[in-house]
Order: sequence, then C-alpha cells, then structure tokens
Amino acid sequence: MVPWTTYKSMYDAALNQPGQFWLDAARRVTWTQKPRLACRTRADGWHDWFPDATLNTCHNAVDRHVENGRGGQAALIWHSCATKERQAITYHDLRRRVAGFAGGLRSLGVGQGDRVLIAMPTMIETAIAMLACARIGAVHVVVFSGYAGPELARRIDDVAPKVIMIASCSFQGHSAVPAAPVLNDALAIAMHRPQACVIVQRRACTAPLLPGRDHDFHMLEHSTPVGPVTLRSEDPLYILHTSGTTGHAKGIVRDNGGHAVALALSMELIYGCKPGDTFFTTSDLGWVVGHSYGVYAPLLNGCSSVIVEGAPSALLIQALCHEYGVRCLFTTPTQMRLMRQEGRHPLGVILPALARIFVAGEYADPTLLDWARSYFRKPVVNHWWQTETGWSITAHFFGLPECEPTSLMNEIGRPAPGFRPAIAPAFAQHSCGEIVLSLPLPPGCLAGMWKDGGVRVPSTYLDDTGRYYRTFDEGMIDGAHGVHMLGRSDDVIKVAGRRISGVQIEKVIATHPAVHACAVVAVPDDLRGQRPVAYVVPVAGTGCAPSSEEIIAQVRQVIGRWVGLRDVRFVRHLPTTISGKIRRRHLTAC
Ligand code: AMP
Repeated sequence: MVPWTTYKSMYDAALNQPGQFWLDAARRVTWTQKPRLACRTRADGWHDWFPDATLNTCHNAVDRHVENGRGGQAALIWHSCATKERQAITYHDLRRRVAGFAGGLRSLGVGQGDRVLIAMPTMIETAIAMLACARIGAVHVVVFSGYAGPELARRIDDVAPKVIMIASCSFQGHSAVPAAPVLNDALAIAMHRPQACVIVQRRACTAPLLPGRDHDFHMLEHSTPVGPVTLRSEDPLYILHTSGTTGHAKGIVRDNGGHAVALALSMELIYGCKPGDTFFTTSDLGWVVGHSYGVYAPLLNGCSSVIVEGAPSALLIQALCHEYGVRCLFTTPTQMRLMRQEGRHPLGVILPALARIFVAGEYADPTLLDWARSYFRKPVVNHWWQTETGWSITAHFFGLPECEPTSLMNEIGRPAPGFRPAIAPAFAQHSCGEIVLSLPLPPGCLAGMWKDGGVRVPSTYLDDTGRYYRTFDEGMIDGAHGVHMLGRSDDVIKVAGRRISGVQIEKVIATHPAVHACAVVAVPDDLRGQRPVAYVVPVAGTGCAPSSEEIIAQVRQVIGRWVGLRDVRFVRHLPTTISGKIRRRHLTAC
C-alpha cells in the first residue's frame, strides 16, 4: 500500500524530500547492499541513483518470487497472432530457463558489461534472453525485428555486441519472413564481428546454422545454470536505440537500481497493480513499453505478464483478458483505432477482472478514448512517455486512495513523482512551448547515452542552461499541474506509435543518385496516427528522374517496411528560410 492519500501529498513528498521519498520507494526492491544514498552527481555532471547499493535485476524479477512462493504462478503468457501458438511459463520454469540460458551465454564468453544484441520478435525466448543478460550483468540491446539489414548493422557497430541473437523468422501478418538473410546482410555491412550468433528455431521456418558462428538457443538453454551476479545500482542493464533529431539512432542506457525502483513503484502507484495481478501490454518487446511493461515492471512486482506477437484483434484482446483475468491493459491509440475499425459493438461479455486501460505513445483523440470506454465499459486513460524516460512522465494515479474521477482523465495527466516539467525558458512569455524537465530526472530515466563504447552524458538533451532535460515535445501546463501535449518540436514521426526521425528517412532517400534534395514530414493518418510523406527534388537536367517506387523500395530495404512510406511527391524546390533551413511545417501544411 502506498503511504499517501492524495496526489498532492505524494507529489510534494517527492518534490520536498526527494532523498527520503526514493529511499522509501527503494524498499520495494531486494538489494544485496541496501542504499543509504538516493542520488549522486557523477564526475561528468549526470546523476546516478542509489550509488552505494548493489542488486541484481533478474533476481528481483524472477528468483525472489520463486523464493516467496510464487513459483507456480504464470510469469509470462505469450500469444502469436501470426501462428496462433500460445505458451505460458511459470516463475519456476522461467528461473530454470533463464539460469540455463545465462549459463549458455557464459559458455560463449559473455561476461559482465558485454553487450548482447537481440533482434527478435515478441516471444518468450526474447524475454528469457533479456533476463539472462541481466542475470550475468551483460547489457542487452533489443532491436525491433522489423529493421532491415543496414539499420541493424548500424546498431551492431554502435554497441559492438559479443553475441547477436535472432529468431529464425518473424511475421508480416501471417507470412513468415526469414531472419537469417537480414542478419547476413547486416554482418556484410557492419565493421564489428560478433563472437557468436544464437538462433531460436521456429517451426514456421528454420534457419541453417553456420558452423563455427551459430548456436541453437534451445541447446544453449541446457547449459549449466548460473546464479544472479551482484551489480552496482548504476551498472547498465540495457541499451535501447531510439530516433532523434540528428537522424542517428541514439542508444539510451538504463541502469539497474533506479530502473527497478521506478518500475516497481509505478506498478502500484500508476497502474494500481499488486502481486499476482495480470498485466497485458500489446507493445512489441523491441520498443520501450515492451521492455518496461511487457517484461520488467510486471515481473518485478510478481505479476503475470501477457505479451503478444503481432497486432491482436479486438476479439483476441477480449479473449486474452477473459481467459487470464487481465487487470490492466496497456496499448496504443493505433491499436485502439484498429479495434474500432473492426466495427464491433460494445463487448457482449463483461470482463470482471479488467479494472482499467492505458494508452500512450502518440496522440489519442478524445473520441477514440470515448469509443474505447464504451466498448470495454472500463476507464480508459492516456499518459505521456518517452523511450528516454522509461516510465511515464505524466499519468493518472490509480494506486492512490483518493484517485481523481475518471471523467477528468482525458488528458495525459499530472507529473509522476520526481518529474518537474516546465515550459522551456525560451518560451517563458508564452502559455505553451517546449516542455523541459528539471534535472536530476527521477530514477528509471536514462542513465546516459551509449557513445564510443561507454556511457556518456546525454548532452543532446540538455538545454543551454544545463539545468533542464529537453523533451522535444510541445505543450502547456495548467495551474493544477495538468500537462497538455501539442506534439513534437523536432522531426520525429510516430508511425503506429513507433518512432522514426524524418531526417533518418531523408538520409536514405538522399543516397539515390537522381535525388538532388528531399524532406520528409509527418501527415495525419486515420489508422496509424501519422505517416511519412517525402518531398523530393530530382537532379535537374539528367533526364533520369527517380520513381516513387524506387524511393519507397530504398527506404524499405535500408530501414524496414514498417516505416510505411507510400507517398512520394516530386517538387522543383523545397521551401527554405533565409538561412537555408527547410521549412518543414510549411510542407506539412501543403
Ligand atoms: P517513444 O520514445 O517511442 O516512446 O516516443 C516518445 C514520443 O511519443 C514522445 O516524445 C511524444 O512525442 C509521443 N508520445 C508519447 N506518449 C504520448 C501521449 N500520451 N500523447 C501524445 N504523444 C505521446
């Protein structure tokens, strides 16, 4: 039970006595060395949470629940929308498989601090691989399995993994897409050579194992099991790449201790979940919500987590909620729009266990949330997130005894504890502008950026004063702390809730020999929220204009199909400012 009754008492406690607040919150985690200090500024100016403490995240997410009598409870429940397979794994079996696979990684030479790149779809094996890394202090780098070879190659070179893992195939709809060719493409481009590759063989299509390079996941699982190692709270747990203004994917680094504390608290405070409850997130494990609420938060809290491969229909969501007694459903507005498009009438069955539904990741228009409320006949609320923050910056707090009425919950809510949003000083005269967050950020947020083989200060996120983290989201803050979002201030596009930078797409288009200049902007899309549109200026006077098909194919080949570029418009020139910068907003309005 949380010790606060109202939002104000909770938020003020974190604001006025942050050290005490977070040391109290840290009691939710089992430490090998308990923290006495909440936060410390590092020599490089960034901050570490619980810097005098040690723990193991995998022990907290798996072993301690077995030790506390939850061994027989389902830890993960997986459904594949493509193959219709379903699997549930208890905490007891999860511990056995994770410990065995951790031993397998060790036998391949993986040790503390080594990176393991996991380019796999949402599967139980993906979660096992993540937890096995956490167990031995290796740093997992999960890459969304929809990326094409060149994007995968960039991530391989960025983190120099000792081991790369793939599943033999992923699925586009119901068609199996072999993954070995993508891996081979990536390795042909990348400078870095992994020591080994691990392949999860799937029934739909097996991959040939390259002797001396490839190992079978299920064989490795039978290695001698290893126990959790003791790690410093600030040791990196994972790196997750995300798109930003520069057009280069940035590796966001998450620590062990702050991450475990923040997620454990959020499950109680925001989602109102207790041990034994079932949590269902529709996010792919390759994105941040999949990391935080598909795997870590539910497991840290002794819940059962439902994960799905592919996009579930409204009927499947209903069936899974019914069958597994789901208490909280976490999904995206795009998934909601897909469900609405199915045109189903309000649920025939009542889902008694389902308490509430959360959406995040992109703009959700109020009519969509109203549709979801009438379909599920449950509270449906929105909250604001970033890969960088790892948990919600603003939310509604169902764990508080005096929770606000759901009728007031249309917006993205109020700041979570430790988040101190403000309108950027540059916009001080205006009621809206870019939202910045005062430093230090609370536990669970980025512990730094991965650069040149180490964890560095995330300087691209700092404003000119060095006192604020820039969210690159624009909005307003009202007198009651309510935050209202207007959209990104940079070129980031959310396609079906998945993040891609316009500049990243432009860089690919610009390599076409017949392209002189290009700009990619987001336009609204009825189903996916946003979609990219490319404005292309062909090279003049060559007589060989590029075709839309060539440009679309190039983007698919380098980044992946999921980017959804279908609209290429040829123009004679791009609108620019006097300093030569492209006026993207002008293009969006065209
Ligand atoms: P990602 O890092 O993929 O989680 O994307 C983060 C970005 O998604 C944010 O910076 C916002 O632009 C957008 N976003 C996240 N949650 C919301 C929300 N509830 N409403 C509107 N946009 C959101």
